[in-house]
Amino acid sequence: MLTRRILLLATLIGATPLVSGASALPVDGGDPLNVVTTIPDLADIVREVGGDEVKVRCVAKGRENLHSVRLRPSHLVMTARADLFVQVGLALEHGWVPGLLESARNSKIMRDGPLNVGTGWPKLVEIPVTLDRRAGVDIHPLGNPHINMHPDFGSFAGRKIRDRLKAMRPEQAGKFDKNLAAYEKRIAAHRKRWAEAAKLLKGRKVVQYHKEFSYLCGANGILMVGALEPQPGVPPTPGHLAQITKGMRELGVTVILHGPWTPGRVAEDAAKRAGAKAVELPVMTQRDGGTWLGFMDRLHEGLLGAWDLELEEREDQD
Ligand SMILES: [Zn+2]
Repeated sequence: MLTRRILLLATLIGATPLVSGASALPVDGGDPLNVVTTIPDLADIVREVGGDEVKVRCVAKGRENLHSVRLRPSHLVMTARADLFVQVGLALEHGWVPGLLESARNSKIMRDGPLNVGTGWPKLVEIPVTLDRRAGVDIHPLGNPHINMHPDFGSFAGRKIRDRLKAMRPEQAGKFDKNLAAYEKRIAAHRKRWAEAAKLLKGRKVVQYHKEFSYLCGANGILMVGALEPQPGVPPTPGHLAQITKGMRELGVTVILHGPWTPGRVAEDAAKRAGAKAVELPVMTQRDGGTWLGFMDRLHEGLLGAWDLELEEREDQD
């Protein structure tokens, strides 16, 4: 249905490609490259690395379920005009990006392909061990794609973005290297603080609504006992909830993590039954003014708050 709607939009804005694919690379020293990203985390990192060589727009606002972001005509127009499209990949945006790219008919993106920063992610977890006959039900078919919450993500994505920008603007290679080096220095400063948080969080146990905090928890040594969704993308059933909440009581799990998009009071009700509390955490950077570093700071603060933990006072850092 969504694809049909997008195709209709494509017809409305014109069926011919809006961007010529005649040259392999953009003209040297021209206007900023138009970059479209799926999530604000990537928009922020592209701005960090690209500096004044890029003009970045982003589709998701920051509170959505990343697997099903609602598309608007403006997304189609900006994608049709983009020089570069950046997504996480690993099937994270599989429910909405293929239709968007197909409808945008951007010859540059069709020729060079979108940049999938998740390709080659070395710490992939929760890879399905068998090919389920119900494939298509599990929305994490390639393993857990929520890598934007791993402390390594900033550098990993930053390097992929730098390499692509260098290929598009070779004459600005030095500038992209310098921008990334400065960004990685700031990431390192934040990581010291996250590592301090991890010392306090190690060994604690959580249940998640959707398995989107797995990298965040894994990096902090937090044990993930289960998920309210029986399978990623499958809504909780009464039987599964009964089993999980019983298990939580037996194992002394006091925290259920969920994103802002999760439906109704499911997490709160399950927490009540398990004698635990539901803790809402953001699942991506906020689009309007948010930064990936700020988002990661907030996640660590949220985790500490879930167990009433606090770090000692610190000097302000960027
Ligand atoms: Zn997911």
